[in-house]
Amino acid sequence: MIPERGLVLLIGAAGSGKSTFARKHFNATEIVSSDALRAAVSDDESDQSASADAFELLRSIATKRLSRGRLTVIDATNVQRTARRSLVALAARNSAPTAAIVLNLPLEACLARNRSRPARPVGPEVVEKQVADLVASLPELKTEGFKNVYIIDNTMDIDSAAVLRQPTDV
Ligand code: GDP
Ligand code: MG
Repeated sequence: MIPERGLVLLIGAAGSGKSTFARKHFNATEIVSSDALRAAVSDDESDQSASADAFELLRSIATKRLSRGRLTVIDATNVQRTARRSLVALAARNSAPTAAIVLNLPLEACLARNRSRPARPVGPEVVEKQVADLVASLPELKTEGFKNVYIIDNTMDIDSAAVLRQPTDV
């Protein structure tokens, strides 16, 4: 169950399947993607020098959507606590509940899928660090202010996952 006027954070390393999951379960306009916003300002979704601009836009778009009561899905790795904390705070300022959907796949699976991506993949050492950050985050996720935390840790469960929208109390 995810709150229908809320903020949903997808959490997962590069190659864990966040963008695929988002496309399957959410409307295109509901998805705010750090890769897409990097591309929007630099024509290259993997241009890390565009990250600051991309995240400024990501926060701005999320704020405007949540202030209108629109479901907003953040497609970014969100493996670092500071990144999650600032988004949970942004949601709280807009009276929006938050949910986390964690794609907790093993490193090998992320690496293999990252290699098969059409866009230039991030390096394996980057993916390794992201997976380590995510694993370290798992015990504390439930204390970070999310209304719901869903941790999915194998591809079969990712394939069969259903996303239900729960009306938000007003
Ligand atoms: P992201 O980096 O977390 O956004 O991951 P993507 O959604 O871009 O997926 C990375 C790669 O894995 C892509 O080539 C996808 O086609 C592939 N992929 C994503 N989800 C699945 C899945 O459920 N099954 C399989 N076999 N491949 C997937
Ligand atoms: Mg992606």
